Amino acid sequence: MNYEAVIGLEVHAELLTQSKVFCGCSAKFGAPPNQNTCPICLGMPGSLPVLNRRVVEYAVRAGLAAGCRIARYSRWARKNYFYPDLPKGYQISQYELPVCVGGMIDIETDAGSKRVRLTRIHMEEDTGKNIHDAHGDASLVDFNRCGVPLLEIVSEPDIASAQEAGAYLRKLRTLLQYLEICDGNMEEGSFRCDANVSVRPRGTTAFGTKVEVKNMNSFRAVERAIAYEITRQAEVLDSGGRLIQETRHWDPDREVTRPGRTKEFAEDYRYFPDPDLLPLIVSDEWVDTVRRDIPELPDARRQRFVSEYGLPEYDADVLTMRKDVADYYESAVRAYRNPKALSNWVMGDVLRIIRERKLENNLVIHDWPVAPERLAAMVELLDSGEISSKIAKAVFEEMVSTGKTPVQIVAEQGLTQISDEPAILAAIDQVIAAHAGKVAEYRAGKDKLFGFFVGQVMKATQGKANPQKLNELLKAKLSA
Ligand SMILES: [Zn+2]
Repeated sequence: MNYEAVIGLEVHAELLTQSKVFCGCSAKFGAPPNQNTCPICLGMPGSLPVLNRRVVEYAVRAGLAAGCRIARYSRWARKNYFYPDLPKGYQISQYELPVCVGGMIDIETDAGSKRVRLTRIHMEEDTGKNIHDAHGDASLVDFNRCGVPLLEIVSEPDIASAQEAGAYLRKLRTLLQYLEICDGNMEEGSFRCDANVSVRPRGTTAFGTKVEVKNMNSFRAVERAIAYEITRQAEVLDSGGRLIQETRHWDPDREVTRPGRTKEFAEDYRYFPDPDLLPLIVSDEWVDTVRRDIPELPDARRQRFVSEYGLPEYDADVLTMRKDVADYYESAVRAYRNPKALSNWVMGDVLRIIRERKLENNLVIHDWPVAPERLAAMVELLDSGEISSKIAKAVFEEMVSTGKTPVQIVAEQGLTQISDEPAILAAIDQVIAAHAGKVAEYRAGKDKLFGFFVGQVMKATQGKANPQKLNELLKAKLSA
């Protein structure tokens, strides 16, 4: 039978606040286990939560950027369940009255643009982390993450394939990074995604049985897991079987989903308004203040790159995918105005090194050795004819590994391009004298030997001959 997939995504984004959502503990990732804790985030009896104002601002910022309606009145709720990483026995979340309602994310698909509607964005606290198999048979608990603020961003079931899910997640992550409220690091778990996947016979409208897929910690894993799950569900139905509503975990090694617990329904959590926290009132003035602080967003920046720098759409797309890359590019262009040449270097060599060094985390690019002004200075040397494009590649690599400036590298290693005619002619004469046989063949009509001579002269000048001059002079010499 022919099925279509119906997919909704729930994204959990850890917010980049200094402190946790209901206490003053540091929210920073990577501290030694159980260092960032206090009676409040450890759920000690009698402790009381105090709301971090910044968390609300970040939620409103996300809501405004995604076109949500910002609720002027919302409420905190307790989601009750037992798990060792949840010392209070409940998670403080929002339930029937979330802070952001509606909204949308537009994605590009093979069939064109598509709008994925959002159901809601709400705030909640993160749980701790269980660590299994670290210490013999014992399982350990690290409470550092308890109370780290999260946004849960819930989409409507508007996504129809694994590719669309990937496009949606990339777009959403880019947006949160631009807003500077989440670093989007999937491996460290600061940007996590659960997928609700069901299938139904193509052309029908009733929803099939929904399965929640968890444990996917890369874009690739999300796409593979969803594709697997769609096929699995179709096969179960085709063979006359019945699907059950359950949670399944992605196994990245075997590339299958495995059944976890049977899925709870909302009523199992016994949600109720948290009596320790007041209802949240967000005034119009507050919303306006947050709105004024929203930086230029990816779509607007992409269009500006085309109009202001005359870049092709493709370049603008690649350069604005990450805010730090776009910032880096613009700093380079401010230092030396050759937008297209700098775009080529950033899209090529800079992004290659980001990939090789796995600098996936946002803003890392600011810490690496090749400051944008140095890339600009190198392109300027290239444009002025001081160095050849081949030498420029070598200078770039040297900048990355030594952190020196391009001028310094060129001076120290004597890499200045040779444009001076007598010097190039001397090298040409030397090559012609050494390859008399080949010269005769060339003159007898074997044109493709020209490349060989160019290579030899380049070798004789350690790659420093100005290629244009070399071509002219060599051609003249050989046809003489
Ligand atoms: Zn604390």
